[in-house]
Amino acid sequence: MSDVQYLRGLLEEHPDFPKKGIVFLDIFPILRNPVAFETLITHFVHHLTSYTIPKSSSKKVDAIVGLDARGFLLGPIIALRLGAAFVPVRKKGKLPGQCVSATYEKEYGEDVFEMQAEGIKPGQTVVVVDDLMATGGSAKAAGELVAKQGGKTLEYLFIIELTFLKGAQKLDAPVYSIIQSD
Ligand code: 5GP
Repeated sequence: MSDVQYLRGLLEEHPDFPKKGIVFLDIFPILRNPVAFETLITHFVHHLTSYTIPKSSSKKVDAIVGLDARGFLLGPIIALRLGAAFVPVRKKGKLPGQCVSATYEKEYGEDVFEMQAEGIKPGQTVVVVDDLMATGGSAKAAGELVAKQGGKTLEYLFIIELTFLKGAQKLDAPVYSIIQSD
């Protein structure tokens, strides 16, 4: 069985969560299983080191940007494996010090994401990570925060991509997802 089949088989579907009509895909069964969690992280790191930054290239990833909240569970581990910084993107009002902000569309109305102004320095290369991409609105806002600080997003990484929502079309860099759901 491939890594992808193994990880896909662990996802759990929760109909009508968090509200009626939504089928929520739960990634936590992967994190509860240390072999699966290791497989997931190794898959991301292998992808980044072999494809996003091929060994022949002098490019590197300076920072992994993780999205509130499940991006915080993946990003720091990937960052440590790559020897990169980890930089969180949080909902407005949660981060101390000077912050940059970007607005994104939610199902009902808008929300604001923030990143500490110290997070990314001009010219740095960044990979954005979250558990799942739906509309791509939150990933787009994260990309805007990186760009506002003069950083360059190399790629957006997700465990799951809801491909029928075409979120990738909103983004300024390629998307890599392990599992596609249509
Ligand atoms: P978007 O901004 O792309 O529309 O929504 C993505 C955000 O919603 C991500 O932060 C993701 O964690 C969350 N999300 C939406 N639906 C699901 C789901 O079915 N499963 C999980 N794990 N997260 C979801």
